[in-house]
Amino acid sequence: MKIVEITTEEYRWPRKKPITNGLHTYTDVEFAIVRIKTDEGVEGIGLGSGGAIWRSTIERMVPLLIGEDPVNTERLWNKMWVPKLIGRRGLTTRAISSIDIGLWDLRAKLANMPLFKLLGGFRDAVPTYVAGGYYEEGKGLKELALEMEENVNMGARAIKMKVGAVPIAEDVERVRIVRDAIGPDVKLLVDANCAYRWYTAVQFARRIEQYDIFWFEEPVQPDDYDGHRKLAAATVIPIATGENEYTRYGFRDLIRHDAAAIFNADAKVLGGVTEFMKVAALAQANDLDIAPHGSQDIHVHLVAAISNGLILEFYGESFDPMWGRIYKETLRLNKDGTVSPPATPGIGVDLNYDALREYRVA
Ligand SMILES: [Mg+2]
Repeated sequence: MKIVEITTEEYRWPRKKPITNGLHTYTDVEFAIVRIKTDEGVEGIGLGSGGAIWRSTIERMVPLLIGEDPVNTERLWNKMWVPKLIGRRGLTTRAISSIDIGLWDLRAKLANMPLFKLLGGFRDAVPTYVAGGYYEEGKGLKELALEMEENVNMGARAIKMKVGAVPIAEDVERVRIVRDAIGPDVKLLVDANCAYRWYTAVQFARRIEQYDIFWFEEPVQPDDYDGHRKLAAATVIPIATGENEYTRYGFRDLIRHDAAAIFNADAKVLGGVTEFMKVAALAQANDLDIAPHGSQDIHVHLVAAISNGLILEFYGESFDPMWGRIYKETLRLNKDGTVSPPATPGIGVDLNYDALREYRVA
């Protein structure tokens, strides 16, 4: 079998209201795919976020891949990843990730099994947390508590909220209100999106320890490995990080610095499924857990495939005005708060062009 064509599609649509985390505000949703065609008619779909660098990196990779057997994922990953020519981190690695995800979608379709089975099938439903708790215009403590109650009513057994955009005392109050709203039995996670210095993160962590926090995510800048370590040593709250980390080498360095207990590895960022499985194995060898960042469509398979998959991040209906309409089938929470990967061969993403078409930008 040979790869005969690789194309990209990019989409963008506005959110109802901008949402803000510890450091950034998002007004639009960006969604992009890579389509990998073969001479036998089977196609692989890879996921990404689009943009000019992503697109032109993929265009640069196409001549390297045409004529190759798509099943040879290890060979093709190494053909694409030439640090001297495309850099060691960043948007170019994200582009490789999208292609690699498409190759694994193809492999699983050829094997006639869902991706999580092909990768080892550790379990067929995964524990999940509902992400949210963003800062929004007109959203006070009452509205925040209501959002969290709705998530719990939907079946969530764990929820995450943003912190880091307002003074510490104000965030402590937000955390208190949310713990009150969800009761003692639902897990509560906080995510600062790198907003703190290590010493302000310690001050904050100490003040929210009393609210039984499951993890404190991205407390400081991704390159501040020592800051992660100093914070981890100063609080009982487990530290999670890694959504801005690239390749097995980046995670090796996090491990060497004792930076975190939980890695928010992202297959769309760090180098695709090929590299994700290596990061998962590296974490296994150090008895550390993986809780991927976002992109539940691909990550539901990866959490289900590995023995150290801790929990899946899940974005529900309130997060995206196109939720439920991007694909023909949409992942949903089971009654017990878990999510099950699709049983269809591959990743199971079938685009709903009736809804997407009008938002195509490239
Ligand atoms: Mg995060």
